[in-house]
Amino acid sequence: MNMQPILSFAHSLINKAVSEGDSVIDATVGNGHDTVFLAKLVGESGHVFGFDVQETAIQNTTKRLQAEKVDHRVTLFHKGHETILDSIPETAHSTITGAIFNLGYLPHSDKNITTKPNTTIMAIEQILQMMQAGGIIVLVVYHGHEEGVIEKEQVLEYVQHLDQQVAHVLQYGFINQKNNPPFVIAIEKRK
Ligand code: SAM
Repeated sequence: MNMQPILSFAHSLINKAVSEGDSVIDATVGNGHDTVFLAKLVGESGHVFGFDVQETAIQNTTKRLQAEKVDHRVTLFHKGHETILDSIPETAHSTITGAIFNLGYLPHSDKNITTKPNTTIMAIEQILQMMQAGGIIVLVVYHGHEEGVIEKEQVLEYVQHLDQQVAHVLQYGFINQKNNPPFVIAIEKRK
């Protein structure tokens, strides 16, 4: 396929906004796939702040980071991403240039523990406040479950009304695929 798949598109946007030495946020670490990607992207002099409400997710991510020998580049918080502004040290706020969310539930885990529209929106607001101009927030929206449909609608409603003087907002996804395929929302803070 010549068109870029969803996850590779999400990563390519982050790649453009983030340079070595920057700080970034993984707002939903889960099994740590994106956390490892981000830790490699920011390099030895950069830093990743990762969040998840599940102990299993923090443990799985820690193991994955250790296996890749990048665990020292990451601070993990066993907390909801709605605490981002208070959890990340204030000195690091102005160094944030990117953030990733994978909405929904952890695969092969408790499907009742899923991201929620109000806390997702709170986290986006907090990141927009601290992030550098030119920085990008990427959300991969999974909406094949009941909670996911509600979250998709509310998050879309929120981002569609972000002031265009404050942020560029993009939606990217395949519209003829069956079974509610995930799609990307990207928010770039304007300079
Ligand atoms: N990116 C992950 C990976 O590479 O494996 C997958 C993330 S999974 C789709 C969504 C994760 O969000 C789950 O691990 C879940 O525990 C977490 N989550 C749910 N509510 C959250 C919240 N308020 N703050 C942070 N994480 C949350």
